[in-house]
Amino acid sequence: MYTLVNRGEDSSVYKYITQLLVKGSAWSGKWKLGPKDYARFNLMFGERQTRVLDYTRIGHISSLRQAVNYYRGSERLLCKKVPLVKFVRSLTGHSDVKFSWLPVSYIVLPKRLKSKSETKSGYYTDEREEFLAFANKLEEKIWIAKSSSGSKGKNIYISHDVQTILEFIDEQSQGFVVQKYIENPLLLDGNRKFDIRSWVLLDHQYTIHVFSEGVLRTSSEPYDASDLQNITSHLTNHCIQEQFSADFGRYEDGNELFFDEFARYLKEKHQVSFASDILPQINTIVKKCLLGLKEELTTEGLGYDSFQLFGFDFMVDAKFHVWLLEVNGAPACANALLPALAEDLVRKAIDPIFPDHKSEEPRRSYQTQSITTESRKGVFMII
Ligand code: ADP
Repeated sequence: MYTLVNRGEDSSVYKYITQLLVKGSAWSGKWKLGPKDYARFNLMFGERQTRVLDYTRIGHISSLRQAVNYYRGSERLLCKKVPLVKFVRSLTGHSDVKFSWLPVSYIVLPKRLKSKSETKSGYYTDEREEFLAFANKLEEKIWIAKSSSGSKGKNIYISHDVQTILEFIDEQSQGFVVQKYIENPLLLDGNRKFDIRSWVLLDHQYTIHVFSEGVLRTSSEPYDASDLQNITSHLTNHCIQEQFSADFGRYEDGNELFFDEFARYLKEKHQVSFASDILPQINTIVKKCLLGLKEELTTEGLGYDSFQLFGFDFMVDAKFHVWLLEVNGAPACANALLPALAEDLVRKAIDPIFPDHKSEEPRRSYQTQSITTESRKGVFMII
């Protein structure tokens, strides 16, 4: 029997997978749950805040195969907004700020942090002068400022006025990305904006799998570029919509639209194919990001294995161009997709590291009690 410890108890995905491994009939007898601080674990679901996760404690016990559900360095290199900008620039091979799939972005540090970080590590350089020079030349004038480690639409400021953006950032205590606002988003019926969440699994052999189903998080208010204060028209985060839109749920249950429904919409309304026009762009961006970090992230030669589930967030503009917004290293999962995603993650990321001891019957599907929404199917596909 293998031993699992779960230190990431606030992750709904790994909570579900823990139940699946320990209590689910399909995996019964293969896994037992150990105490959180148990050292001789085989599999650890680490802390969601991965900077707390102590990788130095993994992989030192001879003849004990150990794995963890994060790749060390992913948060520092990819899953925050400032490092993402630095990384994508490094991929394009020049310091130019025009990327073809990340909106033009500048790193701006609050003044008080600027002096501190320059003397301490010198890691990020403030780019407000370059930002101002570029912004003043531009015809499209809207910018969005987002804090490096922000999430759920918090700490976001949208404006035409570059000076007020800088003043806003100077009041803050962490680095910001000031990004060109996508002013011409593709809109759904009712002129509503949306973003796309795709779940991506990086397995222990560094093979990239993209989940075949994904979700559009929609706004339930019409998009209005002339009113930048109306956050429900501009920010499509679930929690913003749920909290502030009186029309939440009016168009789609929980403001969620799934890929198959989106594909139908694209075809009927725009004669555009999701499979051949949108999905290949998503897959290219995912590959560029993860393959570009392979040397830094790989566990080859280390005494333990890693795998990781990522949430890649995108927007699509009116010309059907896909833009990367951010990469989440500990994503939640839409309830309707959780059973299928969790089971397939176990099959594709965990079972290959920890094979069955005895030959068993094909795994049957298992549904935990906690999911009440109607489940949708989906599998991770290698790209
Ligand atoms: P958070 O981590 O807070 O969710 P995001 O980068 O995902 O930050 O941005 C939150 C929301 O703001 C997105 O879901 C999207 O609706 C909107 N948004 C973010 N960046 C842009 C952009 N460059 N252009 C237009 N809208 C954007």
